[in-house]
Amino acid sequence: MDTEKLIKDIVKNVLQRLNSEFPKKQPEEKALALGPESIKLKTAQAVASDRKIVCSISVKHVHLCREHLDILYGKDYEPAILKELYQPGNYAYKETVTIVGPKLNALQNVRILGPLRSKSQVELAKTDCIILGIDAPVRPSGQLEGTTSCVLIGPKGAVYLKEGVIRANRHLHLSQEDADYFGIRDNDEVDVRVPGPKGLTFNNVQVRVSKDFLSEMHIDTDDGNAADVVNGTLVEIVNASCIAPIGPSTIADFSRIPPSIPDNSISVEITDPNILRNMNKAMEAGNVSSKVITDTGSYTGSAKTAKTVITVADLDNYKVSGINLTSDVILSPLARDEALARGIKIFG
Ligand SMILES: [Zn+2]
Repeated sequence: MDTEKLIKDIVKNVLQRLNSEFPKKQPEEKALALGPESIKLKTAQAVASDRKIVCSISVKHVHLCREHLDILYGKDYEPAILKELYQPGNYAYKETVTIVGPKLNALQNVRILGPLRSKSQVELAKTDCIILGIDAPVRPSGQLEGTTSCVLIGPKGAVYLKEGVIRANRHLHLSQEDADYFGIRDNDEVDVRVPGPKGLTFNNVQVRVSKDFLSEMHIDTDDGNAADVVNGTLVEIVNASCIAPIGPSTIADFSRIPPSIPDNSISVEITDPNILRNMNKAMEAGNVSSKVITDTGSYTGSAKTAKTVITVADLDNYKVSGINLTSDVILSPLARDEALARGIKIFG
């Protein structure tokens, strides 16, 4: 008998024995570990499970109803799918809108997510709301009564959205299998802990259970940046409410409220062709190392690159060829809208 086979047989044998002596924990035991009786005795750490959940960042986006898409992009317009999202049947369209608030600041190129819904809904983070000058409430998706208004602008028209702007609540999509494993039901609220140097525990996380879901936590960009979360960061369901029940947030009396720093800064995308050209020149001269900060707050690259800036004035050059949006091409939002209006193809 050769040695290799002998070792394999021994290993197999040992593994079989280990498995029979220490059977894998059953879902029922996990459920018990999260039950109210045992929680009183345990710290958050002790009830943390070894089954981790994928977290992703919901960058500001809009869901549109058919009627509003008709106004913004033209009657019966069929948006094109840019990217499938993690949750089956959900996708990002290529099309975007501009959101304008009462301060007349604009958030441009805000992604439209599909499929279309019966009611339009805008999901922003607090920072986005501050830029727009609105105060959107924290709501579960779809609960839009009495929420904030804004104006949506597309290439073909504008919509005054009387209500529908929210900051989506922290929520957790759970597959039925994971829900059974954790002993959690639809609409339960849990705490979710993010590890790492900026680790923290998110409270009031609404659980939504469906057989159609993949397990995935959704938080907005502000929450994500606070905890250094990027798409795919693994988080764990804990129950920190065992340490102290979570009440409503309160504020100190007037004499103890620290003054805030006056802040009139705004952050908007550069659309001025002159600024874009100057930026391009500077980068071409090799003086500027361009660091692109994405909406999730992470650095996507750092390189000295010469970029081609396409503005409305340049569009005639692309009438035949179309615009190939490679990573070294910057297409100004105005030019993008105008190109779409003129039927110039944008690909890449
Ligand atoms: Zn979600």
